[in-house]
Amino acid sequence: MKEKLYTIEVMDAVKAGDECPCCYLERKLEQDTISFTLGSSYMEDDIRAETDKIGFCRKHTKMMYDYGNYLGNAWILKTRMMYLRKHFREDLEKSLDGETQPKSKGGFLGLVKIGGSKSGAFTTSKKEECYVCRKLDETYGRIMNTFVYLLRTEPEFLGLLENSKGFCLPHFRDVLEACMENMKKDEADRVKKVLTDMMERELARIQEDIDWFIEKYDYRNQGADWKNSKDAVPRTMQKITGGYPADPVFRQK
Ligand SMILES: [Zn+2]
Ligand SMILES: [Zn+2]
Repeated sequence: MKEKLYTIEVMDAVKAGDECPCCYLERKLEQDTISFTLGSSYMEDDIRAETDKIGFCRKHTKMMYDYGNYLGNAWILKTRMMYLRKHFREDLEKSLDGETQPKSKGGFLGLVKIGGSKSGAFTTSKKEECYVCRKLDETYGRIMNTFVYLLRTEPEFLGLLENSKGFCLPHFRDVLEACMENMKKDEADRVKKVLTDMMERELARIQEDIDWFIEKYDYRNQGADWKNSKDAVPRTMQKITGGYPADPVFRQK
């Protein structure tokens, strides 16, 4: 079966003019997954069986709380608790003598697995132990493959990226890695050169924005224009680490 590609979504994200099209897609996917989990799906037995077993990481537990729908949350928590209590002693023992696993690199949300392997209940913030992170991680690979697919099949796509605001650093690295793994070497080298030049230009732009933000606090610049610096702090944060620090919490409509 042919893998689903996200060509329309990726094209829209690149054209959105954001600091990073991958962050843009990631935010949408994450919000959609939270809405799905607390929307229509939580009374379905097969999905509840999954959330009972996998649970949620700390970040997504907080997002579930902020989203609202406390009754929906309560149902999910009720059967998750039943599952955890049933496996409590067994999981505790497994966790206490778990073997150490090698560090894996960050996935869709840049979550990095640190330290030993803990099982079941005794985990914190690990994507493979979170229903939402797992869903996002599955889609992330397909999104990276879509970038490669578009670069190979749509001649204007590279130009579109070249004239965009670029990526955040972690997503930029992942896109390049996907290209290097899935393209012929000369093809990948050409893409890498174009995108790296573009990223240098865009990092210089961000530098200017954050520099001017500080300059604006000088009394001599009181009357000067903000230029593009008003939101330079969250945009610079996004450029360096990804995500949207200035976003309001995501709530049920
Ligand atoms: Zn990003
Ligand atoms: Zn998670």
